[in-house]
Amino acid sequence: MTKTIHTDVLIVGAGPIGAYLGWKLADAGCDVHLLEALTLDKVGAHIEVIHIDEIRFDEFEIPHPTPPELIHLPPFFKVWSVDSSRYFEVHYPFYVINMPLYVQRLHGYIRNSGGKLTEKARVEDVIVEDGYIKGVTGNIGGEPFEAYARITVDASGIVGALRTRLPDDFGIENTPLPPEQTFYSGLELREDIPEGYPTGSNSFLGTPGFWNMSYGDGAILGMVIPGSAELAWEKHKQWREERYGDPGKLVARRIGCGPYRRAPLSYVGDGFVAVGDSVYQNKAFSGEGIVSGYTACKIAKDVIFDALEKDDCSKKGLWAYNTRYFRGQGAKFASVMGFLPIVNDFPPEELDFLNTNEIIFCKDDYEYLNLNYELNLPPERWARICQTIEAGVKEGQFSEKSFQTMKTLYDFSNQLKSHYLKYPETPEGIAAWGAVQKAMWGY
Ligand SMILES: Cc1cc2nc3c(=O)[nH]c(=O)nc-3n(C[C@H](O)[C@H](O)[C@H](O)COP(=O)(O)OP(=O)(O)OC[C@H]3O[C@@H](n4cnc5c(N)ncnc54)[C@H](O)[C@@H]3O)c2cc1C
Repeated sequence: MTKTIHTDVLIVGAGPIGAYLGWKLADAGCDVHLLEALTLDKVGAHIEVIHIDEIRFDEFEIPHPTPPELIHLPPFFKVWSVDSSRYFEVHYPFYVINMPLYVQRLHGYIRNSGGKLTEKARVEDVIVEDGYIKGVTGNIGGEPFEAYARITVDASGIVGALRTRLPDDFGIENTPLPPEQTFYSGLELREDIPEGYPTGSNSFLGTPGFWNMSYGDGAILGMVIPGSAELAWEKHKQWREERYGDPGKLVARRIGCGPYRRAPLSYVGDGFVAVGDSVYQNKAFSGEGIVSGYTACKIAKDVIFDALEKDDCSKKGLWAYNTRYFRGQGAKFASVMGFLPIVNDFPPEELDFLNTNEIIFCKDDYEYLNLNYELNLPPERWARICQTIEAGVKEGQFSEKSFQTMKTLYDFSNQLKSHYLKYPETPEGIAAWGAVQKAMWGY
């Protein structure tokens, strides 16, 4: 017999984003039910160790972690110069956390607030009636079920289990994420690291590899590469062997992927909301998705609560989530994404020039970016930066081509930000806004 679930808000995916939204909605008194394909103890296990900004716990009203969930709180992280001869310290603390335990803590908050969680519930399709999303179908432990809700939320992560099944004319881009806009992150957890290797958390200018803290004195050697998991491991091996050989003992390998693409034009439709990796809400400069997803969830929670109160769960009733998100964090992420990835790929000697001259790749700019989610490039400072780079071009330390690219990107990122700040107040304006947005990104 087919099991039937009825709830006000149905959240598909009980990862860090769905679980946070579910908790906050249940805590506000909403009738919430989360469906998770995995057993709950396995959520987050494919990544295992993550970093979450310490200051965001207060911002998002989450009790701070304690052991064994909390592994470390390094006071700063190091960013090494291209030739690894020097580093600068970025004083923006990140907790090193066991992800499954963190997510299980959120699950506990959901239950304590009266929300429901069903594990081993794999959602396979959306129920659409008269253009409205009415719920989902799937199986729980192999048995079929139907779930009906006033609002159905896609929090299923990068697979976009609901988003990619939406009708073409629903108003939300439903194409799966292409591999070239998917970053693959391979992590090796190592222990018994001998003396002489890096300590603490480290990233390296000019390479997508990093050396972070793991359990105890152990380390995580990681590599982030778009395209495929195979490529990520291949580059990981090459990078590790060239730099460190085979340090300590390999205890585990983890791999996962994340989105790296401009946001879809809309996060809402009739009876539908999307959050987290399913709609690419991760940081445009590092791919970290947890707290950036929470910015969206905080808005989504208020808007969903209002929509239920007013009994208007239509696209129009939910639209304020779009407007508030895109005019805030969405505008910042778009402008960073329009600038930083290309500059990051400049030749090593040019990155070195920028680092030496404290332009973008330096302590203050990293701290500003982590804190504010945007680059600190107001016009007066940009004018001074241009003078410095121009002098570098004259002295042969920086290429004219890269200088021109940077100037073009600077204008482009400012135009992107201005455009996102004009995100339409109501659904009627989205066609015109979206056409300009697509033309700007070129896709
Ligand atoms: C290797 C790696 C390291 C990372 N490190 C960090 C970090 O240090 N800090 C940070 O902030 N971010 C990090 N990220 C990014 C972060 O993990 C994601 O942004 C975050 O997990 C997104 O949360 P989410 O809840 O949207 O999606 P997910 O975490 O993917 O959760 C989605 C959930 O939905 C479930 N689901 C999927 N399909 C269905 C279905 N059909 N039916 C029911 N349930 C379904 C999944 O089982 C899953 O539990 C990392 C990513 C990777 C790949």
